[in-house]
Amino acid sequence: MPHVSITRRYRFCAAHRLNTEHLTPEANRAVFGKCNNPNGHGHNYVVLVTVKSGGSQEARDLEPLDRVVNEAIVRRFDHQDLNRDPEFAELTTTGENLVKLIWDLLESRVPAGCLEKVGVVETRDNYFEYAGSAQDAGGLRG
Ligand SMILES: [Zn+2]
Repeated sequence: MPHVSITRRYRFCAAHRLNTEHLTPEANRAVFGKCNNPNGHGHNYVVLVTVKSGGSQEARDLEPLDRVVNEAIVRRFDHQDLNRDPEFAELTTTGENLVKLIWDLLESRVPAGCLEKVGVVETRDNYFEYAGSAQDAGGLRG
């Protein structure tokens, strides 16, 4: 069904370190390079949240989305160490895992079928995008 989407942009700053207990210290250094630095490092993350447009999109219509994202994502991660977040206790804080976590946190909080995709800009050259499992299951076969 053709439709218009709208994407809102949010930001948070957070520290992390790419490291997994499943690898030796040497292997971690080899896989993650300088992102394995024991002192960690930070990013100015940009989160792009795309939802189906309700038609005439006015600023006030986006207030509920802004509230959800600010409460569930920005307040949770801004100026935090991602490695200390309970959701990352067993997961490496890669952009792939972060964008999936943000999707999961938002999908349960916005009206069903409203969320289309989530993007995370980690660095100038790294962008991660996730559109949930529903799209994987449907796709062109539907
Ligand atoms: Zn990093």
